[in-house]
Amino acid sequence: MVRSPIDGAEIARLTDDTPDTADAKIAAAAEAFKTWRLVPAPRRGELIRLLGEELRSHKEALGKLVTLECGKSIQEGYGEVQEMIDICDFAVGLSRQLYGLSIASERPGHRMTETWLPLGAVGVISAFNFPVAVWSWNAALAIVCGDPVVWKPSEKTPLTALACQALFDRAAARFGADAPFGLSSVLIGDRSIGERLVDDKRIALVSATGSTRMGREVGPRLAQRFARSILELGGNNAMIVTPSADLELAVRAILFAAVGTAGQRCTSLRRLIVHRDVYESLVPRLKEAYAGIPIGNPMDSSKLVGPLIDRDSFEGMSRALAAASAEGGIVTGGARVLADQHPDAYYVEPALVEMPAQTDTVRHETFAPILYIMLYDNLDEAIALQNDVPQGLSSCIFTTDLREAERFLAASGSDCGIANVNIGPSGAEIGGAFGGEKETGGGRESGSDSWKAYMRRQTATVNYSDALPLAQGIKFG
Ligand code: NAD
Repeated sequence: MVRSPIDGAEIARLTDDTPDTADAKIAAAAEAFKTWRLVPAPRRGELIRLLGEELRSHKEALGKLVTLECGKSIQEGYGEVQEMIDICDFAVGLSRQLYGLSIASERPGHRMTETWLPLGAVGVISAFNFPVAVWSWNAALAIVCGDPVVWKPSEKTPLTALACQALFDRAAARFGADAPFGLSSVLIGDRSIGERLVDDKRIALVSATGSTRMGREVGPRLAQRFARSILELGGNNAMIVTPSADLELAVRAILFAAVGTAGQRCTSLRRLIVHRDVYESLVPRLKEAYAGIPIGNPMDSSKLVGPLIDRDSFEGMSRALAAASAEGGIVTGGARVLADQHPDAYYVEPALVEMPAQTDTVRHETFAPILYIMLYDNLDEAIALQNDVPQGLSSCIFTTDLREAERFLAASGSDCGIANVNIGPSGAEIGGAFGGEKETGGGRESGSDSWKAYMRRQTATVNYSDALPLAQGIKFG
């Protein structure tokens, strides 16, 4: 049963895949690989161009479905579909740029090359909070790289996945017979169906997005069978606000990053590390801004904060606030609201918690709008605090001091996959590689050279001479 977090109402009933139907979809993907890998990459790009067209013409409907199913604000619902369109555009260009290398050989009459070839069927496991964009980051690249995709969306957001598959099917029908059956499919079900993708030898790469708990289970199982993985796991993202920061900008960035998507982004701002000199001017402004945040039905574009995904999530937030308070934190906000209107939905006031130290509760990712605030006196101390968590996804500094900004970005600075200056930690563009270090899993998706994860690298040496010189000058016989 699928429920909308907006009011807790049932919106659909779906039948889960069984082990047999899952097996058939994986078998079809493995079969599709045999022909799809032979279709020229620029022609594969044409399919993704058509997918981008379908997404453009259905942006509004799909964006609304995203909001209905996962509860993010309608602006963010549309934004998520726009991100899908952007990655399709990127992948179309990429389909003509899957460049290899020409390498100087030490032997006369020899030539060395490095070529990127299709890898095999790719499994995508995704989380509820970006129900469609994460699939497109993977699928658009995988398909131009020559790999079929089997997608196991979150059990909390299967409808948006079926809608994406329907748009893909339309694009494939327009594309023609070159698009084999099984090139893209969706597995409906919970983690037990996800485990089938993880353990199946016919799946060459699993790109898994979700909690660190999930990654801890999935990572070793993939390693056990020497499969490739892209792990995109939890974050615990911080902002350092220095004495020279533009506080006006900082407050706006904090609001979007900490309360946007009701704090349910992997890149949501969770920790604010504020210099003692600006603490008293920043924190009261923040409290004032928090007090005025419109909370409510995310379909109403005047509301900036929608509901949490479910009751478990609300209970997790309440437990974290109680624990932080027991550790000496001073909590502002955090109460449940609109419960009389929506007894089966979980709307909350975003919470600010002034902490005496970075405790275990602060180090843990609670997937809800809680912002822990801590003080610092010098930048080394602030960077050490920022890095002293198990996760390593996103980070940022607000400063107008060039030296501080560069120190933050240097080898001894932020240890995260994403490090921003005068921009919050969330809301990445698709052109850059997306992902993080440490318990965030180390994977990279989307832009830059992330596409290489979906291909296999082949080094070839061609001898066009009539001799057979050995490398390293070895004489043999
Ligand atoms: P989750 O870990 O509960 O579930 C994610 C997906 O993994 C779901 O599809 C689920 O069915 C599947 N799954 C869970 N255990 C599995 C197993 N043992 N084998 C196979 N599949 C399994 O996460 P969630 O609550 O949907 O999402 C929130 C989490 O995702 C947060 O921790 C957030 O930071 C993280 N996230 C990370 C990124 C990123 O790019 N780093 C992006 C979005 C969300």
